Parts: sequence; C-alpha cells; structure tokens
Amino acid sequence: MTQRRRREHSLPFQKPMSVTTPAVHHLEESSLYRHPMSDAKWAATLKKVSSNLEGMDSDRVRCHVNAILKSIEFVDGFMERYCSLTCAACEDPCCHGKKIFFNQADIIFLVSSGLPAPPGQTRSQSDGMCRYLSANGCELSRKTRPYVCVWFLCETHMSHFLEEEIPVQKAMLKAFEQIRAHRLSLEAEYQTHPG
Ligand code: SF4
Ligand code: SF4
Repeated sequence: MTQRRRREHSLPFQKPMSVTTPAVHHLEESSLYRHPMSDAKWAATLKKVSSNLEGMDSDRVRCHVNAILKSIEFVDGFMERYCSLTCAACEDPCCHGKKIFFNQADIIFLVSSGLPAPPGQTRSQSDGMCRYLSANGCELSRKTRPYVCVWFLCETHMSHFLEEEIPVQKAMLKAFEQIRAHRLSLEAEYQTHPG
C-alpha cells in the first residue's frame, strides 16, 4: 500500500482511552462531507454547522476545542521537523492522495474553534489535486487541516518518531489520543444535542 493510500484509509492510533480523556460515544468519525464540494456548498455547510452548534453547551464545546488545539500545538513542532527532513525529496507524496477531505468532525472543530476557516473543501472535483498543496507544502496551518493531515506518520516520519526519546514518543501518542477522543466526543455531542 502506498503512502497516499495509507493516509486516505488509515485510522489514527487506536490506543485505549486513559481516565483523563473524555467518554467516547462512538469509535469512528462520520464520513459526512468527505467528498468533493463546490465553494458555495462548502460555505453553506459551514453556515449550517454553525447554526447547529447554537444551543450546545458552549463550555463543553470550548473544553473539547481547547484540548484539541493544545495537543495539535504540542505535536506540530515534531511533525514539522519530520517534514523538513523528508518531504521535499519524497517520491510518493501523501498529499497527492485523491480521497483526502475535511469530514464532519473537522468542520465542527473549525467552526467551533473560531479559527479562520479555509475557503473550501480540499477539492471540488474528484480528480483534482488538493487546493492547499503548494510548492512549499501545505498552505494551511496544522490546526486548520483535515485531521488526517494532522496525525499522519508515513513510514519515513515513523522512523524519525521512533528515534525520539521514549517520554517524547509517549507524549506524542498521548496528544494524538487526546485529539481523537475530544473530536469523537465533540461530534457525538453535536449529533445528539436537541437543537
Ligand atoms: S509526510 Fe512527507 S515524506 Fe511522508 S509521505 Fe507525505 S510527503 Fe512523503
Ligand atoms: S490539506 Fe495540506 S496536508 Fe492535507 S492533503 Fe492538502 S496540502 Fe496536504
């Protein structure tokens, strides 16, 4: 399986939840919105999700969002270093995958975080390239990328990860675990709140 296909189909680390992570109501994020989309449809989707978020417990939403942001900030420096060491010379860039999209959990997080949302889905046509891929890599900050683009460790990056000190490896795995758990809880609460 190529790097691209792994990125499109792999799930993040499936480690058991620790007591500090929120209760997880389901094990997999919805695939809703994981498809090509026009910018008009994207804008309408953001608006709809924003409207649906109204009436949710804002303290709980903020708790999930802050936990996700904190963990992304933690892993960002490591992941950027791995990219700087490898991506320019990569022969099978994962960003060329055609099935990388923002999903519903990404959109809920983007809207509820207050971060500037990207102007559209990764592509409007199924055969198009990701619109955010530039000559210098991804144009989006890690916080505003589809989550699959946040956590993905290709084989080369995994080799760098395994060179880290064990406490660093554990801290990174914990951060990914936290992100996953809070995203699942945020999405579950969004889907079940009465508004
Ligand atoms: S993360 Fe970088 S090195 Fe790894 S598959 Fe993607 S482009 Fe290649
Ligand atoms: S959003 Fe960024 S990291 Fe993800 S596929 Fe597109 S260019 Fe690559």
